[in-house]
Amino acid sequence: MNATLSKPPVFRFAPSPNGLLHLGHALSAILNHDMAKAQNGRFLLRIEDIDPTRSTPEFEAAILEDLSWLGLDWEKPVRRQSDHLDLYREALGKLIKMGVVYPAFLTRGAIKTMVETFEQRGKAWPRDPDGAPLYPPEERGLSADQQQRMLASGKQHAWRLDVAKAMAVRGEPLTWQEAGSGPKGETGIITADPAAWGDVILSRADAPSSYHLSVTLDDALQGVTHVVRGQDLFHSTSVHRLLQRLLGLPEPLYHHHRLILGPDGRKLSKSNRDTGIAAFRAAGRTPQDVRAIVL
Ligand code: GLU
Repeated sequence: MNATLSKPPVFRFAPSPNGLLHLGHALSAILNHDMAKAQNGRFLLRIEDIDPTRSTPEFEAAILEDLSWLGLDWEKPVRRQSDHLDLYREALGKLIKMGVVYPAFLTRGAIKTMVETFEQRGKAWPRDPDGAPLYPPEERGLSADQQQRMLASGKQHAWRLDVAKAMAVRGEPLTWQEAGSGPKGETGIITADPAAWGDVILSRADAPSSYHLSVTLDDALQGVTHVVRGQDLFHSTSVHRLLQRLLGLPEPLYHHHRLILGPDGRKLSKSNRDTGIAAFRAAGRTPQDVRAIVL
């Protein structure tokens, strides 16, 4: 038998410990867990705590408690992203060598002013799928000398992916296989469009890795074969596929699931107390109640 074919599928739930879990997280975690069990696969838990300003050990502990209460079990040890910052730095180093990233010095405030000034003239600044303004193109064209001079000045900077250059590295179409569906029902073979995000940030001054870089690397390093997550991350997959291609990482199968909306019809947020798992527990509801609501 072919050894690679006999390997069990690997699923993961990857919460960020910057708040309490809500029903939407419960759906994601339960789907991953149940799909892994149904396919004799592995179920991993990964704590995505690269943002030191928002992640806390208390939220992490609460997440583990809620997941156990839901009756889920996962492989130990749990991977915590903050334990692997060197790996993300190393990958960034590769991308710098490839010439597909550039140091970006504009502050949030400077970008905001540029966008506002531009829009006051009645023109729309291009925005990403989440509605955030794309990064201004100015610094993309700096020569290596200019970049070195700016870096030597010690000014705080981030590293951004030059998406056009990165797409040109291997010009063939970039796709992924979607087993679930996107927000507009997109399914099957999806054409990735990383340019929709502009030059995404891969590392910032206060955190050595971005969500995009660390999630992509970890999925590969942990051998994740099935990425099952909410539709709010559907469009991010375009960036993940591009990073996979640049770094020579395998392509998992993607399955984006519906989002659970609050009574106001909006996406649940971590501060929305009544849809939190902890609130369900405190109200004497059972894990079966949660399953019945979300599945
Ligand atoms: N850590 C991300 C979040 O909590 C999810 C990452 C993923 O599933 O790709 O939103």
